[in-house]
Amino acid sequence: MITGHCHCGAVSFEFDGVPDDVTACSCTVCRRYGTLWAYDYEGEGIRITTRGSNTGVYIRGEKEISFNFCRTCGCVTHWRALQPNDKGRRRIAVNMRMAEPDVVAAIPVQRFDGLSTWDDLPKDGRCVADVWF
Ligand SMILES: [Zn+2]
Repeated sequence: MITGHCHCGAVSFEFDGVPDDVTACSCTVCRRYGTLWAYDYEGEGIRITTRGSNTGVYIRGEKEISFNFCRTCGCVTHWRALQPNDKGRRRIAVNMRMAEPDVVAAIPVQRFDGLSTWDDLPKDGRCVADVWF
């Protein structure tokens, strides 16, 4: 399991296992946040814990997902589908930049062209340690 939390600790997550890769997306939101996403379903492979009502949300025009951040320290911790799918499961993703460096350093990065083609780009061999500083 991989755990992560915002800088002040008010928002934290648990991710079961280790993801095959993390996604660096070029869409208008993600490229600004610099997030590295790992996906699953809320309450299944991913669990979020927040202290009080400490999570702020940003919902972009399409109104499909919310980007969630800590109101105290500002870290973007996860996104969450606004509606469950037809099987009642809710898609969610956590920002692996909130995890400890050694734990995620070797996970491959999948670049996703969220700006124009909405497709994965070819793998280029880079992992988290190569891109996050
Ligand atoms: Zn915080």
